[in-house]
Amino acid sequence: HHLDVENELTLFLDRKIAYYKEYLSGECANYIPELKVVNPDYLAFSLMLPNGKVHLNGDYQVPFTLQSISKVITFMAACLYNGKSAVLEWVDVEPTGDPFNSLLRFELNENKKPFNPMINAGALTVASLLPGLTPMDKIQGVTRLLSSLLDKDVTINKKVFESEWETAYRNRALANFLMENNLLASSVDDTLFTYINLCSIEITVEDLAKIGLILSLDGFDPVRRIQLIPAPITRLTKVLMFTCGMYNSSGKFAAFVGIPAKSGVSGGILGVVPPSLRSHPLLSDGCGIGLYGPAIDAHGNSVKGARLLEDFLQSYDVKIF
Ligand code: GLN
Repeated sequence: HHLDVENELTLFLDRKIAYYKEYLSGECANYIPELKVVNPDYLAFSLMLPNGKVHLNGDYQVPFTLQSISKVITFMAACLYNGKSAVLEWVDVEPTGDPFNSLLRFELNENKKPFNPMINAGALTVASLLPGLTPMDKIQGVTRLLSSLLDKDVTINKKVFESEWETAYRNRALANFLMENNLLASSVDDTLFTYINLCSIEITVEDLAKIGLILSLDGFDPVRRIQLIPAPITRLTKVLMFTCGMYNSSGKFAAFVGIPAKSGVSGGILGVVPPSLRSHPLLSDGCGIGLYGPAIDAHGNSVKGARLLEDFLQSYDVKIF
């Protein structure tokens, strides 16, 4: 019976991917030259269940860079090494309703902090808090955590890094503004170098599904049976994903898609399905989801990825409230 359910899922996903691949368009991020040249038609889906079973559909072999999804890992790494409360002295947990790279929020919020760690201002501050004196140390703090989650080495796409580094005018402005307000713990250049390298870590939808599964289970890897991240850190991270993870469409995404998620301008989406008895029996113990579709909307979210995710969650009755 379980096999029937799994086969049904595979058929469902193959059908939906074929549909959304044809049906929707959009454009790749154009402000990072290396992202602009990617095939906008790619669409990939991955799902990992607590029993370790993985579903892979569509263009799942195509690697891509984490971009803003790195903010999730960076935040958890900073909390792991410094403690959650030390990190929250530097950055707030308030959604903005503004674009991810907004200069409007130059004012900072009423506590004189960046609004949250899922937008660029907050992520730059958090990157500066990573342990170590050099950017290399700080980058390693994140890649080490990511390697432990994925149980493999991770690499940085140097071409994408160079491409963003050379054109990072706005992030450089943000970093300077943060420095002026004593909101960076490392130099402007070191912070930018760290942040852009973290955005350039290469990943696949399968990797995202695995990260999502571990987050779903509050930091526990059900396959290796180890607690990889303390539960309180993962819970706070999921709240931040739910309230701030999809930039200025986070509210609508929470309302109509309904799970903690984080997107990046490369077109990746990391989705976390918390265990819920209301969901379809296949998903009631929770799961992780990874999506990739490089054509993005005006908010910077994958068009096809978000539609496919919404459709999937509705069809499988995922409701977390
Ligand atoms: N590297 C990108 C930037 O900082 C990440 C933004 C994103 O994915 N939204 O502009």
